[in-house]
Amino acid sequence: MIRSKVPNIKTSIFAIMSSMAQEHNAINLSQGFPNFEISKDLISLVNKAMLDGHNQYAPMAGVLSLREKLSLKAEKLYGKKYNPETEITITAGGTQALHSAISTIVKEGDEVIIFEPAYDSYAPVVKLNGGRPVYVKLKYPNFSIDWEEVNKLINSKTRLIILNSPHNPSGKVFSDDDMQSLKKLVIGTNILILSDEVYEHIIFDGAEHNSVAKYPELAERSILVFSFGKMYHATGWKLGYCMAPEAIMKEIRKVHQFVVYAANTPIQYAIAEYLEKEDEYLGLSKFYQKKRDYFNGLLTEIGFDVIPSGGTYFQTVNFSAYSDETDFKLAERLTKKYGIAAIPMSSFYHNEENTGTLRFCFAKTDDTLAGAAEKLANFHKDAKKQLKLFK
Ligand code: GLN
Repeated sequence: MIRSKVPNIKTSIFAIMSSMAQEHNAINLSQGFPNFEISKDLISLVNKAMLDGHNQYAPMAGVLSLREKLSLKAEKLYGKKYNPETEITITAGGTQALHSAISTIVKEGDEVIIFEPAYDSYAPVVKLNGGRPVYVKLKYPNFSIDWEEVNKLINSKTRLIILNSPHNPSGKVFSDDDMQSLKKLVIGTNILILSDEVYEHIIFDGAEHNSVAKYPELAERSILVFSFGKMYHATGWKLGYCMAPEAIMKEIRKVHQFVVYAANTPIQYAIAEYLEKEDEYLGLSKFYQKKRDYFNGLLTEIGFDVIPSGGTYFQTVNFSAYSDETDFKLAERLTKKYGIAAIPMSSFYHNEENTGTLRFCFAKTDDTLAGAAEKLANFHKDAKKQLKLFK
């Protein structure tokens, strides 16, 4: 008989909502993935790599030319040199990088600080490794961190702090002040930082990405995680990478080699070449800001009160003025009755507390976003009618 090691871990909300959307033929703004074409040039480069015979295992740490390009990119953008031989590893998506990093660092009894709402893959991996997630709530509505509160939760068992900026699901971008507070907190301790920076290039309103790589006192104790899925609108390719100081990376590779050994070879060759085109990723913020503004404009026209997202491809919207059902029930009703799927924010909290808020992915064509707005307008009209009835 199977004895579950993870009895409390449920199926990911992304799998649940995407299949619900499909079943009910709803517009899917739930799981985060773009629905437009990716670069034909990049596809040609993958084809070329395959035709050139790059079809066998890549080196365990990844194709060296790709790691060299990534090293140059980090140095140029964040002023920190990562040695491509020893400090960069190519992974099967950001998810595998996160999994390998957490599995490398966290031991039985270790505590890990996780800011909530949190991306859904962190806590389960901490628990799988015998660690204890210690949750700190970001303050609504602007999702700020109370560093005093974090300070109070730090003790001799604290092993890791997981930071994610730009932040999924809230769209929060953490500031230089936040990084300074984090620095003060960890200096003189053995605490490591896992910095999920998969949305580094999707950041709005002229804000800067404060990578931990920019701060030497943080970089020396940090593992940084990135995803080519976000950089090239190709989430299905499942390719990403992590960077960390040599001593940490040496340990991560011990785990990485037995999770996947090496990531997809031809895509690594293709991206190594495509990375030359800096504008492709440096233009992402502008590209997605236009989408955010278009979607938010439509929502505002309908009558929703929207606090614009600062980065990522997600926008949260508070529905508590229109409904007192749980956000999961609301997401279910919107999908089944109105044909529009979103993620209930409660799924990003360990105690699934109801927030009345849903997360929408605006990495979609304008047509899809306009279609989604039509569905939401129908909901809004009905909700207003209902509210009047009960006044
Ligand atoms: N990162 C994506 C999101 O937040 C989904 C990833 C996944 O499906 N696991 O929606």
